[in-house]
Amino acid sequence: MTSLDELPLRPELRGRMPYGAPQLQVKHRLNTNENPHPLPPELLADLGEALGHAALELNRYPDRDALALRRDLAAYLTRTSGEPVEPAQVWAANGSNEVLQQVLQAFGGAGRTAMGFTPSYSMHPIISAGTGTAWVDGHRREDFTIDAAQAAAEVREVRPDVVFVTSPNNPTGTAVALETITTVYDATDGVVVVDEAYTEFARTGTRSALTLLPGRPRLLVSRTMSKAFGMAGLRLGYLAADPAVVDALQLVRLPYHLSSLTQAAARTALAHTDALLATVDAVKAERDRIVATLPGLGLTSVPSDANFVLFGHFADAPAVWKALLAHDVLVRDVGLPGWLRVTAGTTEETDVFLTALGEVVREQG
Ligand code: PMP
Repeated sequence: MTSLDELPLRPELRGRMPYGAPQLQVKHRLNTNENPHPLPPELLADLGEALGHAALELNRYPDRDALALRRDLAAYLTRTSGEPVEPAQVWAANGSNEVLQQVLQAFGGAGRTAMGFTPSYSMHPIISAGTGTAWVDGHRREDFTIDAAQAAAEVREVRPDVVFVTSPNNPTGTAVALETITTVYDATDGVVVVDEAYTEFARTGTRSALTLLPGRPRLLVSRTMSKAFGMAGLRLGYLAADPAVVDALQLVRLPYHLSSLTQAAARTALAHTDALLATVDAVKAERDRIVATLPGLGLTSVPSDANFVLFGHFADAPAVWKALLAHDVLVRDVGLPGWLRVTAGTTEETDVFLTALGEVVREQG
């Protein structure tokens, strides 16, 4: 067996670990923030038809610019945010991970720096490393909120080319105030990427950073169909920004990166937006039930605007993770001492999780 050390790997990738949420065959998988609700039968029927139709043209390359899909995504953003978003402001790729990679290819790279306020989404530094972009950790308070003044000071000191603000944040569920985003924006000459992968689960009163786009050409808002839309297997992420940003991303995207099957499936899903998003309220109710039940078990959580809850505080979180696995419940150890993260799903999953957690807490005394 050849070891990685024997290959002429780029030095900055040596010793690194790949992204690795365990994909274990466990009955209750509450570790990757998917939406567990089954897709509506009408959508499944339409998907069969749309994919069959697209298959007839598979000898041809897809629409390189995904114009029809971007028009549909712009309409969705306009309808749900109240902020007019034009198709020319929208870009789509295979999951928001690919969108973020393209952002770093265009605005990061060798000799450049990206920054994010950690703990946050682990792929931001990983994609930075993959694109040769240096990474700097910004800070959060003890309660995982961002202090706007401190964040602005850190940005002024580091002078990053790309700043990530994840709202709601993964793994903490913390929403970021729009004033914090504008403060960070005003402190940098780089691009500011607001990663809104979980925004559809935000509690009422939380406004999207889309409303900040007018007059801010360096502000990028990324979204995904993997979470609220329940289409993680589709691999469709997207971004809204100034049309010039979309022009920049076209310099680095691979030709025909978004297959015609993906484009057809995503458009079909968007035509069923209301039915797909009908599960969001139910997921939010389960999230709030988890949060409300934890104190009775002697535990606590971080206030969450996402479809997951960071809970603790444990003397030995990895031991609790293992004990839950023994109860057929897979949660996520995100490497934060004392904390674990659980995805909110169906009522049945929440029941199983809370019962198992209660038993584990009693077992471990
Ligand atoms: N951003 C955040 C904050 C995430 O948690 C995730 C998925 N875990 C993504 C982006 C990427 O999602 P996808 O590539 O499926 O769109």
